[in-house]
Amino acid sequence: MGAPERTCVGCRRRRPQGDLIRFALRDGQLTLAGPEAPGRGAYVCPAQSCLEAALERRAFARAFRGPVTIDKATVHEFAVACERRKAVR
Ligand SMILES: [Zn+2]
Repeated sequence: MGAPERTCVGCRRRRPQGDLIRFALRDGQLTLAGPEAPGRGAYVCPAQSCLEAALERRAFARAFRGPVTIDKATVHEFAVACERRKAVR
């Protein structure tokens, strides 16, 4: 039994869930969420390119089955989270 895997909505690669950053939806806004947060989630590699690909492909809207927006603060939070992952490795 390995770690659960999830698919990045940006590049569609499967990775261990712990390697990915989870987004949840709150009032139509994407927010970063821990793995324990309830509800639907969408996973993205800790890479800016994957977030951009996901936004371009409207993958979040598909994952959450509705229109989604992302604000600058969340984009920044994501970038910080990416840096933190790199620091751990
Ligand atoms: Zn990815």
